Amino acid sequence: MLKIDSHTHILPKKMPNWSEKFGYGDFIYLQHHKKGFAKMMRGNQFFREIKENCWNADLRIEEYSHFKTQVQVVCTIPVMFSYWAKPVDCQELSRFLNDHIIELVEQYPKNYVGLGTVPMQDAELAIQELERIKKAGMVGIQVGSNINDENLNEERFFPIFEACERLGLAVLVHPWNMMGQKNMQRYWLPWLVGMPAETARAVCSMIFGGIFERLPKLRVNFAHAGGSFLATIGRIEHGFECRPDLVAIDNPVNPRQYLGKFWVDSITHDPLMLELVLKLQGSRRITLGSDYPFPLGDLTIGKFIEDMKLSRQVQEDIFSNAALEWLGLSKKEFVS
Ligand SMILES: [Zn+2]
Repeated sequence: MLKIDSHTHILPKKMPNWSEKFGYGDFIYLQHHKKGFAKMMRGNQFFREIKENCWNADLRIEEYSHFKTQVQVVCTIPVMFSYWAKPVDCQELSRFLNDHIIELVEQYPKNYVGLGTVPMQDAELAIQELERIKKAGMVGIQVGSNINDENLNEERFFPIFEACERLGLAVLVHPWNMMGQKNMQRYWLPWLVGMPAETARAVCSMIFGGIFERLPKLRVNFAHAGGSFLATIGRIEHGFECRPDLVAIDNPVNPRQYLGKFWVDSITHDPLMLELVLKLQGSRRITLGSDYPFPLGDLTIGKFIEDMKLSRQVQEDIFSNAALEWLGLSKKEFVS
């Protein structure tokens, strides 16, 4: 059975020291301090240690073979977005990261599918980069759950989503720059509480801001099974009904109507939760995802889904059909 992992991260092994090059800012750079490992540094501050499977394409394919997963949809790590930088600098950085992924996909067309990153803080530059990566064979982009604390429904971002729809580029919305981070540093709360809330913020902003109404062909996937959105859809719908004066000011459509229109990935770490997501979204709108190679990810690449004894059709949908439809690709591109 074809398995496509719709949510994985990759970096080039070597990157310029952007802070030195641009002369400001805490851009991320890599310190290869010992064999097979690198430190991601933000300015002079240690951010996270990564391993060789973050950049070594052959090693990744080998690791995936243990879980019978042939295809990885790759995108950068959200901390690389650099939406806070000067737009032209962010565009240069984005091009560098995108070119790395474009080359990777050219080299391994049956194993990798690429999502780009664009300078969301400047719609004109972002659209230039969208057009460039589309020509170079990328099938979509990853965007943050907020752009420098602004929600995705802000009018200044609309032309970017409109261009994605026009170019047929898929969108992965990934949490980052988590709300409340400063006030909850302990217990890894930005990742455990902030990230799911960020994704729900993004889904709600796009629904209530009318993005899906205005761009009905835009194909959006929300990371980590939509964060806390699906678990709180009852509350969100009730809010829409009891206080339309607050909620339904830009879009009169009930938020529940959008279930099954966008995609979410399968990263729940919980079969019960996945059953709920299946009921709400339908199997054609859940894509196998892992967040590989990071520890909070589903690093047995959907083994818990295999153990759930779902019908073959539902498994096939989650493992490949949903992702193919989201990405606008067909099965024959991966199986000979
Ligand atoms: Zn991720």
